[in-house]
Amino acid sequence: MFRSPSSSKAPPRPPGPAPSRAVRGAAALAALTTAASLAVPAAGAAAKPRPWQPEKRPVATGYGGAVSTVDPYATRTALDVLRRGGNAMDAAVAAGATLGVTEPYVAAIGGGGYLTYYDARTRRVHALDGRETAPRRMGEDAFLDPATGEPLPFDQAVTSGLGVGVPGTLAQWDLALRRFGSRDLGRLLRPAIAVAERGFVVDREFHDQTALNADRFRDIVPTRELFLPDGRVPAVGSVFRNPDLAATYRELAERGTDWFYEGRLGREIVRTVTDPPIDPDASRNVRPGLMTTRDLDAYRALLRRPTRVTYRGMDVYGMPPSSSGGTTVGEALNIMGAFRLDERDPADALHHYLEASKLAYADRGRYLGDADKVDVPVAELLSRGYARERACLIDPDRAAEAPVAPGSPDGDYRPCAPAGAPARPLAAEGPQTTHLVVADKWGNVASYTLSIEQFGGSGITVPGRGFLLNNQLTDFSFRPPPPGAAPDPNLPGPGKRPRSSMSPTIVLDDGRPRLALGTPGGSTIITTVLQILLNRIDLGMDLPAALAAPRATQRNTPQVFAEQAFLDRYGPALAARGHRLAAFPGPPAGVIGAATALEVLRPGLVQAVAEPARRGGGSAMVVRPAGR
Ligand code: GLU
Repeated sequence: MFRSPSSSKAPPRPPGPAPSRAVRGAAALAALTTAASLAVPAAGAAAKPRPWQPEKRPVATGYGGAVSTVDPYATRTALDVLRRGGNAMDAAVAAGATLGVTEPYVAAIGGGGYLTYYDARTRRVHALDGRETAPRRMGEDAFLDPATGEPLPFDQAVTSGLGVGVPGTLAQWDLALRRFGSRDLGRLLRPAIAVAERGFVVDREFHDQTALNADRFRDIVPTRELFLPDGRVPAVGSVFRNPDLAATYRELAERGTDWFYEGRLGREIVRTVTDPPIDPDASRNVRPGLMTTRDLDAYRALLRRPTRVTYRGMDVYGMPPSSSGGTTVGEALNIMGAFRLDERDPADALHHYLEASKLAYADRGRYLGDADKVDVPVAELLSRGYARERACLIDPDRAAEAPVAPGSPDGDYRPCAPAGAPARPLAAEGPQTTHLVVADKWGNVASYTLSIEQFGGSGITVPGRGFLLNNQLTDFSFRPPPPGAAPDPNLPGPGKRPRSSMSPTIVLDDGRPRLALGTPGGSTIITTVLQILLNRIDLGMDLPAALAAPRATQRNTPQVFAEQAFLDRYGPALAARGHRLAAFPGPPAGVIGAATALEVLRPGLVQAVAEPARRGGGSAMVVRPAGR
């Protein structure tokens, strides 16, 4: 089903000014103040800003560039950048900035993310790490309560300054545009500024995410003022504006990202983290954080070499550590690759997918952390020899009792080597972030996951600046292992990046982009990416069907958690093989992920795909629809 696209010449980088590290000067501001929005129809000079709601469709197929995000404003923003000659990286950054307005609980400049990028000029895939870092003062016992020596309750760590990592998003955008972009950040922020000023129409998702957070938002003064206008959750269909964020984006456009990492905004962030703006009447214990201006100054987004495995003849590129996404997706694919899986027996294919995930997750728990701070055997985890050793443990007729033990990726591989140390339990991880994909007419492809961790991050808004700060440091393990146990690679440490599951993935077929995909979902991100690849590559589904299909996740836990439709369709056959299935508890209950993806159907013709239903469905658009 996967025919290679016929060859076409790699195009040159699109024309445009050489991007600068930061956008500065009055010229940028002047351009901003006179600019008509890229994304929003211009309002009359004296008219009150008018809300506008783009159409939302989950599938679009066509030419000239393609975009898929969870949100029609962001998709439209990226599409307009492409239409005006920007490339995929420009469009990804512009869409990310607009998501910061319309999806402020998952995507904010107060957070971080990971991006993989196929550069058509060099025909190489790159990985950009914009993960948050721990402050220099953070030691491995940071999440232990000094009073008891016990880990802080997870909820308390989430809503605290302690969980706030040094944000990476702006530095990542800056790096992305300098290396691969053709537009400067100031210009790419304009559509987002317009949406923030004119407002967007509140949908069910925004309403529900606000309602979910209302209790803690009420306790944090600037968050309450911004997200609970008049003390209430904004109604579905009402218009939400964020003039503070518009002003912040304007100043960033004028002053550049140094304003954030070395300037006044940075000082405000540090003040907010170390002295959270809590309502004096609130009883909530919001612990202060450890961040300093030196931590912000020291932050760097990093260009890394992506992970790569070959699956059914295609090259699957992913995010290396500090994310566990690339290695865990890669290891599981290598294990699945040892078996023949096809649509004639979907239950058998799913059994192998679940078993491969189980084994790969055992290794994730034991070996994955920030590879700049701890040893991570990336090459061995992704080696064929190791995959054979692990695959040998799969009984085609019977699910292994979970949790299974991690293996030994040590270069010495034998069939069915005995397991190593006991498995580490799956850590708590928020299921809320967002993913977007973009392809341009030159053949560049961006796959970008961005996050502030939980819906609403730490719940702490920087006063007057219109954005929430992340709680990404809660992705660290809270409790050091007991004496004699295997070391935990994901304990907090100075400057360390917490382990992520984000998996922005790009698949090349015969050296050219074929698929790009990703999803939110905390630790279910990895299994959702795997299952979509299984659906598309092995089970004969087209990409829209591969995304829509019901999902299940096995993360080395005793039970397989699944969506109801999955339980209905495959439950009996999988239970007969010994899988213990249960409904996915959420949040959101019963729904796993919110993926976006694209497929290059043939050179120049791209299908962009979003969720048809999960979390309200997403938005796919192309520059020139096919068949018109
Ligand atoms: N914090 C999670 C991670 O880095 C992402 C959260 C989410 O998917 O919502 O993997």
